[in-house]
Amino acid sequence: MLRDTWAEISLNRIRENMLNIRQSLPSSVKLMAVVKANGYGHGDIESATAAVRAGADYLAVAYLEEALRLRDAGMKLPILLLAPIRPEQVQLVLKFNLTLTVTSAKWFSEMRAYKPYASPGKLRVHVKMDTGLGRIGIRTKEEWDEILPWLRAEDVEVDGFYTHFATAGQADTDYLEQQAARFAQMMDWGHSSGLTIRHYHCAGSIAALRFPHLAMDMVRIGAAMYGFYPKNLACSVKLEPALSLHSRLIQVKKLAKGEYLGYNNSYRAEEDEWIGTVPIGYADGWSQRMQGTEVLIEGQRVPIVGKICMDQLMIRLPGPCAEGTQVTFIGQQGDHHITFAELAAHIESVAQEVSTSLGARVARAYTDIEEVRTRWDKQTWSNKINQAVI
Ligand SMILES: *Cc1c(COP(=O)(O)O)cnc(C)c1O
Repeated sequence: MLRDTWAEISLNRIRENMLNIRQSLPSSVKLMAVVKANGYGHGDIESATAAVRAGADYLAVAYLEEALRLRDAGMKLPILLLAPIRPEQVQLVLKFNLTLTVTSAKWFSEMRAYKPYASPGKLRVHVKMDTGLGRIGIRTKEEWDEILPWLRAEDVEVDGFYTHFATAGQADTDYLEQQAARFAQMMDWGHSSGLTIRHYHCAGSIAALRFPHLAMDMVRIGAAMYGFYPKNLACSVKLEPALSLHSRLIQVKKLAKGEYLGYNNSYRAEEDEWIGTVPIGYADGWSQRMQGTEVLIEGQRVPIVGKICMDQLMIRLPGPCAEGTQVTFIGQQGDHHITFAELAAHIESVAQEVSTSLGARVARAYTDIEEVRTRWDKQTWSNKINQAVI
């Protein structure tokens, strides 16, 4: 590690979160571990490894290049691409045995130029229904009737049929119930089509933990795997964050009352003050929206002062601290704790925006990766890893 700014990540925490979720669900419910966006910033391959250890049955990512990274690392589980691909990429999907999300007849008709009917390989697909998020998916019975003949093809396996909720984290459950009712109607289209559809699923983390009856055949767990869950909702499953973020002072100085610091003279010392410079900035994901948040040093909360720069920021110190002193941006020092929830509230977003913003420049230090690696070959789950085909 060449720079003193690092995210400390416990893979055991990720594994335990997933084990706890696994145990809260009926054993017939399959567990899909969502490791898109570099495992929500925690490391895609590492997080996937921890999830597999906890009994995950499927992996999911948003995009093709994310899936290829997992295959390249030797991940053998089925991988669902949550976003549709371009029709001309279909051979890549076959080559790496990926599972597609499909949303239209038009996609199939264009795709057939790249995978003619008699050509080798089976396309494994999950059909995405839009029940009210308004993002991607089939909305009407007409669209379903159009896609249906394409799904009946010999070389197409309908492995799944799914939707995604818009308001799973909100106290008011009306809209979620409407979406669930709409999905139930759509599931009837699936049932009466005569197609073999292996898995019906609708729940992400919050829906899966909050409304167990929505777990259906499979749940898609992202946020909760990393320990994120809305603070205002009760959660019966024990979840702990797996990531903390730290750096070290690279310069300490005394600013006299009235002196300025930061671009645009964005801060002026109210009195004689000790100031520390920390090597983390907006290019690392600590955006200017973090202005007004605090950090921990020597067990105390102190403010970020002045505008956050690209590579550095300044903090007001409790006193003359030594250069090299550890500064914590997320996590605990003594009795104080800076939580994802607190930072997310400050930027009016969710914990996963904070964690996925952490740039590639921030080193990831895995506190217990050796433990995961050494068990890799020994445990029964290694059979599962090896069972799928590439
Ligand atoms: C990202 C994503 C998930 C995971 O959601 P979490 O709330 O992080 O568990 C599930 N389903 C779809 C379609 C997604 O895009």
